[in-house]
Amino acid sequence: MKLKLHWQIVIAMALGIVAGIVFQLIYHGEPSGWVYNLVVSLGTIFIRLLRMVIVPLIVTSIVSGVASVGEGRSIGRLGLKTFSYYFVSTLLAVLIGMVVTNVMQPGVGANIPGNGHFDPANLKTPASPGEILVNMIPLNPLEAAVNGHMLGIIFFAIFMGIAITKLKPDSQAFLKQTFGSLFEMMMKITDYVIKVAPIGIFGLITQTVSSAGLDLFKTVSLYIFTIVAGFTIHMFIVLPLIFYVTTRINPVLHYKAMTSAMITAFSTCSSNATLPVTMNDVETKAGVSNTISSFVLPMGATVNMNGTALYECAGVIFISQVLGLDLTLMQQFLIVLTALLSAVGAAGIPAAGVVVIFIVTQAIGFRDADVGVIIGTMLAVDRPIDMYRTMINIFSDSVGAVIVAKSEGETNLYPGLRSR
Ligand code: ASP
Repeated sequence: MKLKLHWQIVIAMALGIVAGIVFQLIYHGEPSGWVYNLVVSLGTIFIRLLRMVIVPLIVTSIVSGVASVGEGRSIGRLGLKTFSYYFVSTLLAVLIGMVVTNVMQPGVGANIPGNGHFDPANLKTPASPGEILVNMIPLNPLEAAVNGHMLGIIFFAIFMGIAITKLKPDSQAFLKQTFGSLFEMMMKITDYVIKVAPIGIFGLITQTVSSAGLDLFKTVSLYIFTIVAGFTIHMFIVLPLIFYVTTRINPVLHYKAMTSAMITAFSTCSSNATLPVTMNDVETKAGVSNTISSFVLPMGATVNMNGTALYECAGVIFISQVLGLDLTLMQQFLIVLTALLSAVGAAGIPAAGVVVIFIVTQAIGFRDADVGVIIGTMLAVDRPIDMYRTMINIFSDSVGAVIVAKSEGETNLYPGLRSR
């Protein structure tokens, strides 16, 4: 078992693809049987293990991270930098989504049955950003923790961290020590979970490959191609550019550092479930301090979703193209704004992006009857898109963590990777 973890994961993915094809051939797209169920449960177990560590991990990590911000750093400044990054990267993602769908026009003439006729005059303005802010505040922090309301948990944990820095020295030392040790313990547990990642990823990929029907993919191939093109531009041109311009570090180092997290995102389709791996990569491989990684990453997993934002925007414009609408620039900007907000509101779980598209279409005034079949079709082919989207979501968070770390004067970045 001397093979590096990310190589183990790559091999597990390859084996999963092969096994998936075999099951697909044997069972003609509806796989079953005990061997198959066993393989599928490997994936399920892995996801459950990841989800098991999320709440205690982010609480201890944020509390101990924020509590130590007090030592010579300003929380306000960190927050400002972090949110500026979230905003800029999400906005760029949405604009890319808008441009690619306008250039490639994947929905024009697409043959999806059941289109209603829709009057563009009925387009409405989106719900207010204030609502998202209000909902961030949990009525009861324990309830937020039990139900996994990420923003509520994060909000309260940041508060605890800030409060600790204002206590008497002995209480402060005690709480810092306690949360620090609990956090170390959670990192240890995370480590164990990550060690079994190859087995879980094998199960997840097998399941995905074996149950994907291929015919539908052909019908909407231009749609898939458009979204994937947008994702690729964002992931391999825009984000590395931002990264290089702000840090002067070779972006290749960062892709290398994030391999395990990217593959985990790719196979779990969940930013939340990937969070422990993302934090692990950002801290141990990219060399970012826990203070900054625990400030930027957990919040980023819910708030900063570049892939999802791009998808919302491109998806809604695609739907309008299928409906035969010719949106004005103003109407498109309305969509851009809604997409931006909806990506903030989307949960870091599989297929959240498609669910949210319903909200976006509602918000701008499409009726369910008009868009139901189209969104259903998008849902049917969503898994591979979700894989890529989630990977971009967490990759962007990690880029933000390094940018903030660098700007805060951290110097020990990419310790193991640079010397090689
Ligand atoms: N699956 C994505 C994530 O967890 C959310 C989405 O569906 O867009 O990041």
